[in-house]
Amino acid sequence: MIQFDILIVGAGGAGLYAALETSKRKGLSVAVLSKVYPTRSHTGAAQGGVNAALGNVAPDSPEKHAYDTVKGSDFLADQDAVELMCEMAPKIIREMEHMGLPFSRLKDGRIAQRPFGGASFPRTCYAADKTGHVMLQTLYEQCLKNGVKFLNEWFLLSVLHNGERVSGVVAMDLRTGEIHGIRAKAVILATGGHARVYWNRTSNALGNTGDGTAAVLRAGLPLKDMEFVQFHPTGLRRTGILVTEGARGEGGYLVNKEGERFMKRYAPEKMELAPRDMVSRAIETEIMEGRGFKDDEGNEFVYLDLRHLGKKKILERLPQIRELAIDFEGVDPIEEPIPVRPTAHYSMGGIDADKFGRTPIKGLYAAGECACISVHGANRLGGNSLLDIVVFGKLSGEDAVNYVSEVGFAPFDESEVKREEERIDSLFSADGKEKLSDLRGELSDVMSYGAGIFREEKKMKEALERVREIKERAKHLKVYDGERTFNTNLQQTLEFLNLVDIAEAIVLPAIERKESRGAHYRTDYPKRDDENFLKHSIIERGEDGELRLSWKPVVITKYQPEERKY
Ligand SMILES: Cc1cc2nc3c(=O)[nH]c(=O)nc-3n(C[C@H](O)[C@H](O)[C@H](O)COP(=O)(O)OP(=O)(O)OC[C@H]3O[C@@H](n4cnc5c(N)ncnc54)[C@H](O)[C@@H]3O)c2cc1C
Repeated sequence: MIQFDILIVGAGGAGLYAALETSKRKGLSVAVLSKVYPTRSHTGAAQGGVNAALGNVAPDSPEKHAYDTVKGSDFLADQDAVELMCEMAPKIIREMEHMGLPFSRLKDGRIAQRPFGGASFPRTCYAADKTGHVMLQTLYEQCLKNGVKFLNEWFLLSVLHNGERVSGVVAMDLRTGEIHGIRAKAVILATGGHARVYWNRTSNALGNTGDGTAAVLRAGLPLKDMEFVQFHPTGLRRTGILVTEGARGEGGYLVNKEGERFMKRYAPEKMELAPRDMVSRAIETEIMEGRGFKDDEGNEFVYLDLRHLGKKKILERLPQIRELAIDFEGVDPIEEPIPVRPTAHYSMGGIDADKFGRTPIKGLYAAGECACISVHGANRLGGNSLLDIVVFGKLSGEDAVNYVSEVGFAPFDESEVKREEERIDSLFSADGKEKLSDLRGELSDVMSYGAGIFREEKKMKEALERVREIKERAKHLKVYDGERTFNTNLQQTLEFLNLVDIAEAIVLPAIERKESRGAHYRTDYPKRDDENFLKHSIIERGEDGELRLSWKPVVITKYQPEERKY
């Protein structure tokens, strides 16, 4: 059987940073397993930047960064984890700078920083509008230099444990279709987010289907704060492709049909740079109240106007945004405003983990967007995810190295490999009464209707019922392509089944959280209710297959909850 001391699943920023950390300890066998080639991970799509209180542009400090993050989270973040992240930020940025990450610079050569939503100072370090791309390339190069082993184009199917310790995973080699057990003393899940639940309108890569998160749910382990999904205010009108917050950070305006900068009514001080949950609700409110635009195809939107920034700044700081606007909207932002509307973007919720990435199962870690540590609480601030993935990738790698040097391998139950083989065989022999593209579209519609930017009990309950129907109907999905080599039909079916599990885990706690906090906004409970809901939701699947909800306290150190005003 294949075996490693540490197996890292996922090769985005979180997985690669964890790998780099483990490669410092010689003599350990470590591998990174990834369903896409590492440099195609979604981290490479990140545009706007990464936060650290370097204070290069204005006086700043990790404490102020921590306060902004906690306030941005609507006080649901665990403050000990936030403090740790913000404290480590300047050091880890310099670490990456020394690896050769080509940050944009100030005239005097120091790292440039731009303003971002919800931040008191320009704190976001960037490389034009391609920050994630250069970060991923730099980390991958460093991994290759340090001899990290990669299993590229392998697909995680399940995570194995005995109730106390992790024993490994079951995964499929996509090249051959063969299914393998992989034994490991420690497994670090860094499988990314799940905003593809909202398939029809999201900024996320096709592969952001929450595979690791769903595997953890199926393994009977807890997920945290799943009701919180971030909608980014500015997705392109037709596709939902992202226009970075950096565009507003550089000074872009949001404008309605009346030519008005409407943010003055929602966040008079911060205007376009209020946190994302607020700006997304503001745009949708403008549209609902008839002050948005509507095109001939029926798309509704507002404008993001960058023209006043001038050609030079747009070409220098936002070149990719300009290309995306030209390619996907036929609009050159130097000449015309960009039509935008909110788009499903980020998963605040995920695998329940502590600030070292530890889950309740020894040796099983989660880091990056698949994890809920929780540093983002009910609403993530822009630029804090690229930070979260490297900080907690590093810390979980470090912790795993120490852990595996003290333990042997846990017994590996080979019948689990057989079980996955049977599960996959059954997909080839199903009756095919349902079509994947239909169900995927329906799931997306149901989730946008019931668990979108504005929520209410009746719609959420309908959504839960519909998700459960879709789950039943999904039993009829058939994989028509009988080949096992690079079977994308099979892979997409498995990914969809993961999305259905995730969808249920989002809606259930959303119904029970009878308040509005961050991205979870309920028209029937429009106020935050600290007395009853200043707590994390926990979702677990019992042996009977039913989801169970419980609650867990929030860690508060020094920032007492207060009203969130911008
Ligand atoms: C368009 C866009 C722009 C963004 N811009 C910013 C920004 O400017 N600043 C910021 O802070 N944040 C930004 N974010 C958010 C941030 O980029 C992500 O949260 C972060 O990169 C996630 O990193 P990760 O390492 O957790 O996962 P990812 O980079 O998503 O990588 C996931 C990895 O898991 C692997 N994987 C998944 N499932 C399986 C499976 N079943 N088997 C094997 N491997 C699997 C994949 O192959 C991949 O390697 C942006 C996000 C998007 C979508």
